[in-house]
Amino acid sequence: MAIGEAADRAGAADETAVAGDGTLDRTLDRTVGDLTLRIDRTLCVGFGDCVTEAPEAFELDDEDIAVFVRPEAVERDRLLAACRACPVDAITVTDPGGSRLAP
Ligand code: SF4
Repeated sequence: MAIGEAADRAGAADETAVAGDGTLDRTLDRTVGDLTLRIDRTLCVGFGDCVTEAPEAFELDDEDIAVFVRPEAVERDRLLAACRACPVDAITVTDPGGSRLAP
């Protein structure tokens, strides 16, 4: 594992935090250029379509739930296609104006 990759994974882990009501926050957010990506891990069912489309960007953790790897390493069109491939709409993408680009 590359150093940058390890740092990214550590950063992703930090984004899963305990919310104010004591429940686990199961969303992961990542900014990629002008895009804001969110994985709702409560919706993810681990089919892996996003991983198939962009393995540099997504992987399944040990619970078979999607996490970010290095989405910034994927060209925009393929990243959007990977996000849109999710069959349960667990990945959302918004632009700076708040418009939804995926799903
Ligand atoms: S495509 Fe959707 S359901 Fe499948 S692993 Fe990715 S986020 Fe989870």
